[in-house]
Amino acid sequence: MSAPNIETIASLSKRRGFVFPASDIYGGLGSSWDYGPLGVELANNIKKSWWNWAVYERDDIEGLDSSIILNRSVWKYSGHETTFSDPLVDCRSCKSRLRQDKLDTDDAGKFICSNCGSTDLTEPRPFNLMFRTTIGAVSADDDPAALAYLRPETAQGIFINFKNVLDTSRRKLPFGIAQIGKAFRNEVTPGNFIFRTREFEQMEIEYFVRPDEVQKLHQEWLDAYLEWIKSLGISAENIKLYEQSAEELAHYSERTVDILYRYFPERSDEEKQWDELMGIANRTDYDLRVHSKKPEDADGKRINPDSTEDLSYFDPQTNERFYPYIIEPSIGVNRTLLAVMMDAYTEKTTEKGETRVILKLVPELAPIKAAVLPLAKNKPEIVEMAKRIKKDLQPSLRAVYDDTGGIGKLYARQDEIGTPFCVTVDHESLEDNAVTVRHRDSWEQERVSTDALKSYLAERL
Ligand code: ATP
Repeated sequence: MSAPNIETIASLSKRRGFVFPASDIYGGLGSSWDYGPLGVELANNIKKSWWNWAVYERDDIEGLDSSIILNRSVWKYSGHETTFSDPLVDCRSCKSRLRQDKLDTDDAGKFICSNCGSTDLTEPRPFNLMFRTTIGAVSADDDPAALAYLRPETAQGIFINFKNVLDTSRRKLPFGIAQIGKAFRNEVTPGNFIFRTREFEQMEIEYFVRPDEVQKLHQEWLDAYLEWIKSLGISAENIKLYEQSAEELAHYSERTVDILYRYFPERSDEEKQWDELMGIANRTDYDLRVHSKKPEDADGKRINPDSTEDLSYFDPQTNERFYPYIIEPSIGVNRTLLAVMMDAYTEKTTEKGETRVILKLVPELAPIKAAVLPLAKNKPEIVEMAKRIKKDLQPSLRAVYDDTGGIGKLYARQDEIGTPFCVTVDHESLEDNAVTVRHRDSWEQERVSTDALKSYLAERL
């Protein structure tokens, strides 16, 4: 089972403290979200899982954390200033602003307004998605010399550091650079909870390869990502691949495969249930070439007169110098978190006929690994023992103590936020120095001695 729709996750998130509407006390700020106590843990666990898998478990990836605001030339030569735009149309009937490439067409091929159904739309015009800002205290708001952008992707920070990382790490092709960080896009139509927002976080790898290896390694990354996504507890039936058509490919890309997730299971048209979780692009040698000082156009003019560096690679085996091809797997933290929560969402009916929510997160991602609960909160010895156990567990795993309700209610609360284990301290515990461990998914209980508790939990986490 998974969540019936995104709305279910949005309301659970708000109720339990995963994700709150941002700036809420001032009426909110369209499609902005804050990550609460549980959301920040879940997002951190996703990022940790990714970093472990992408950087530590492989031996061909280095990490990086580049700036959000870069020299404007980066966005000039990358092509973002001229091409990073969406086709914007206005509906003349209901005045909605829409992205033409996301609209359906009627039998005559005319675009249909997704808000009111009218086909009376304006001609499309390009709307650049980069957020602008100015640098420095003296600059006027429209001073072109002070103009800068918030990065719309983390990738460019990696390309411009290619040589720094290559030289300091003494890498040989193929190798990659991984980065996690915020990106900003002034989206025309943000929405669907955290699926599309103007501020989001990406986990990107730029993997540098010899041109003749690019196809094989592209496929390897695709297969590897499918495995990692499944390791997050996302079921295979809710993932599928989408090969971008020639018309859809970005100007730098030779092949891009998207991995889609079933974010909209409630839609009757099966085709419309899916949307992008991530993309894996073959960006060719475009990026390192455009940021290099040497390459020339057909007329012998340098394509980049502003760059001071040549980002080519010298292959000591073949004595050749060339610009590496790049495979780019790019995935959003927020869209991953949404898919993880949707897939983990389960409802179970109790013997009394009540519906309970269980968030069946894989233990690695669960915000809280163990909740320590006293069966009687008016018994000081039990409370003291429970608090001691919590303190003892905390250095090795995220544990909480809770005595703010009856035991049934406490269990239900932990199920709903995905805590894999509840540890209950009862009257007998004082005698036998043992506790009851309750399993989230099966609701089965086991008696475990307190001395063995840490290793018992560690084995199962
Ligand atoms: P879309 O087609 O949905 O606008 P995109 O193809 O423009 O996405 P990319 O440029 O490939 O997206 O960005 C890589 C990843 O970053 C996406 O697969 C997604 O996970 C994430 N991402 C991109 N834009 C947003 C956004 N506005 N909000 C949340 N995540 C985003």
